[in-house]
Amino acid sequence: MSSSNDASRPASLATLCIHAGQHPDPIHGAVMTPIVLSSTFAQDGPGAHKGFDYSRAGNPTRDALEGCYAALEGAKHAIAFGSGCAATTSLLLLLKSGDHVLVGDDVYGGTFRIFDKVMKQFGIDATFLDMSDPAKVKEALRPSTKLVWMETPSNPMLKIFDIAAIADIAKKHGAWLAVDNTFATPMLQQPLALGATMAVHSVTKYMNGHSDVIGGAIMTSDDALAERLHFIQKSVGAVPSPFDCYMVLRGLKTLAVRMDRHVASARTLATWLEARPQVERVLYPGLTSHKGHALAERQMMGPGGMISFELRGGLGASAAFLKALRIFACAESLGGVESLAEHPAIMTHASLPADARRALGIGDGLLRLSVGLEDEGDLRGDLDRGFAAAKNA
Ligand SMILES: *Cc1c(COP(=O)(O)O)cnc(C)c1O
Repeated sequence: MSSSNDASRPASLATLCIHAGQHPDPIHGAVMTPIVLSSTFAQDGPGAHKGFDYSRAGNPTRDALEGCYAALEGAKHAIAFGSGCAATTSLLLLLKSGDHVLVGDDVYGGTFRIFDKVMKQFGIDATFLDMSDPAKVKEALRPSTKLVWMETPSNPMLKIFDIAAIADIAKKHGAWLAVDNTFATPMLQQPLALGATMAVHSVTKYMNGHSDVIGGAIMTSDDALAERLHFIQKSVGAVPSPFDCYMVLRGLKTLAVRMDRHVASARTLATWLEARPQVERVLYPGLTSHKGHALAERQMMGPGGMISFELRGGLGASAAFLKALRIFACAESLGGVESLAEHPAIMTHASLPADARRALGIGDGLLRLSVGLEDEGDLRGDLDRGFAAAKNA
């Protein structure tokens, strides 16, 4: 970023979204970061390069994006990956056989699958637990616990876990705390400032914001960990393409305004949904009825754009509801400009065993909404269509 006249005032997040990590191109002065597609870089002599030698190890477009990622999470370092799952897997490559991980019980289905089906083969053991009570996390620690992994707000139950309290417990044990900050984004929650060792993202969601890139990231201020993660990034090679990096840089420019609108519309819709007779309960951290409401007010700058709710009438009603929607697309994923609605038990959380789903409360009537940036009244009208169809199902 260019230097400011008032050097004492740090740039706010909204400004960092637009400028961090980016400089006008020194050759042509291009204001927007060029997409450098080259896989290799000419050297003046053996080993005498200008900071880049091969694009798996480093790339100018990716460098700019990593600078932006780091600034947004208030981190010294950021490492970009080709997907959220690649970020998760690369982070777990910091562990070795015999290590144990404590994982929040209500995580993204793909994250559960990495622990349950992939890392198990390499002798990494995971315990899943509800982290709503930090004392339970402390009790579950083992001498071999190296990592505590959580998502807050969680998916799809939107539970809120106490980052500062759990960071403290992990630190005293000598374990890292990784927080998947995909649902909140740095605009609404800053895990590193609350004591987490690493923030992890599926940038596929709000960070890119337009449902046209798959990407992931890890941010940390721990120099030694960052060095190891950069080593894993280049060694394993789960890197994003320069074009995708450019796309995310472009998406991030509007992150602040997008999150404002997502939160405003979700707040209104959650309150409206709660008053509907066909709705059993609404899970939204911004509602005073939500178990984690007070904690969310403390550790977040806003309750986010995701709403889960339970519709009366079981599977028939849920299916009819989703089929009747015309603005909300019935689709997996979240965090784009467009609104999405889905059925976690059949769609996003199918990789969870049925008994685990039941224990979490992911039943046939549970629906999850990603509230987009369309007119809020239009969205309400669309949900009304869903309620009418569910009544007749
Ligand atoms: C989507 C998602 C992931 C996985 O990210 P991909 O980019 O799909 O690989 C991880 N965590 C959360 C919370 C997600 O929503």
